[in-house]
Amino acid sequence: MTRSSRPKGTQDFVPPESIKKTRIEMLFRELATVYGYQEVVTPTFEHTEVFIKSSGSASDIVQKEMYTFTDRAGRNLTLKPEGTPGVVRAVLENNLRLPCRLFYISPCFRYSRPQKGRYREFYQLGVEAIGESSPLVDAETIIFGATFFTRLGITEFTIKVNSIGCRHCRPAYREKLLTFLREKQKKLCPDCQTRMEINPMRTFDCKNTSCQLLLNDAPLPKRHLCPECTAHFEEVIDSLKSTPFNWKLDEHLVRGLDYYNRTTFEYVSGVLGAQSSLGGGGRYDYLFEEFGGPVTPAIGLAIGLERTILALPEGSPFNTASRRNLVFIVWTGPAEMAAARELLNILRQENIPALMTYEPVRVKRQFHLADIAGARFCIIVGEEELKGNLYALKDLITGEQSIVPAEKIVPTFSSLRLSSERI
Ligand code: AMP
Repeated sequence: MTRSSRPKGTQDFVPPESIKKTRIEMLFRELATVYGYQEVVTPTFEHTEVFIKSSGSASDIVQKEMYTFTDRAGRNLTLKPEGTPGVVRAVLENNLRLPCRLFYISPCFRYSRPQKGRYREFYQLGVEAIGESSPLVDAETIIFGATFFTRLGITEFTIKVNSIGCRHCRPAYREKLLTFLREKQKKLCPDCQTRMEINPMRTFDCKNTSCQLLLNDAPLPKRHLCPECTAHFEEVIDSLKSTPFNWKLDEHLVRGLDYYNRTTFEYVSGVLGAQSSLGGGGRYDYLFEEFGGPVTPAIGLAIGLERTILALPEGSPFNTASRRNLVFIVWTGPAEMAAARELLNILRQENIPALMTYEPVRVKRQFHLADIAGARFCIIVGEEELKGNLYALKDLITGEQSIVPAEKIVPTFSSLRLSSERI
């Protein structure tokens, strides 16, 4: 029998790498909860129109990257290429009370050319603040992402920010940009020639160097804002000034989706190579109307999990996946095994991750099993220890050994205690 391989552009998360994924997701949940967000889970696939009407027909996602299929009953469905459209649909369909803050952790699917940091299935960690219009929310959302990266130990990133205007200022700007592009039309790549008529701002996203050079002289959205958009953006910038984060204005930043207005932002890192964007987001004050809902201001961001893992520096505690917070109990004979099982139960009752082997193998082999399991600590239950009502402890990272009285064993490991009740 030949072995099967995973589809091109997909990844397996196996231990110990999968521990990094779990830890990052836990931190994200924690931080999102601290900022008042609650989890939302939407289906992995939606009716295709959900993405077409939100991401925009000129976007690369809709034009080239969607995994679209017809189901057995003839429905046109698409695997989600990003998180926001499904969340907006769900908020309306479930009549959620506004304002509401929602976060998600979800696989996304895009048919693009795989390379380092770019996959056909990848995970996004996202937040959406729905029903809030203040520029202070924009700043808070930008700071949220920066705080997340900083807590992971990622400090080598820059936040690019821009404003791309609103319904009132954009039509005149659009005409101006279109006039500029039409003059240069013949020199633009075929993609940009199509894009410009549907959404001319899309051309700023083109990766083609000759298009980028031409666009150096293009009129820029930020210079054509109405007074309201200018005031809004100034307040966002003012809030960022008092943060320790490295941010800069990038007047070419429009982001790859059609639904954004006003504030757009992106986190870029020099350590990632060609796929340098760690995450990004922006305001989408008109998207709810596209879905037949009421006028609803909103802003969100999405962070790429795989790129976040790639950007983790050596010293980050989130990058030390070789050992996990697990206690492995080693025993020396049948009587000690019974005592070890009792201890295993006690630790687990206390929500302290613990494991032992039931196989009758030597102590040396048991230490080897602790190593395979990636345990951080060993407790040794031997004849002497049983007699003295003690346990021998070994820290498998530092190699340190100590003796602990039996009644102190739970408090010794209390920092490993897991808790799902705190959310
Ligand atoms: P976007 O909505 O395209 O700006 O995506 C937000 C974030 O998701 C990006 O900054 C990346 O970190 C991540 N991302 C987007 N596309 C991919 C992909 N094909 N593979 C891995 N990560 C991706």
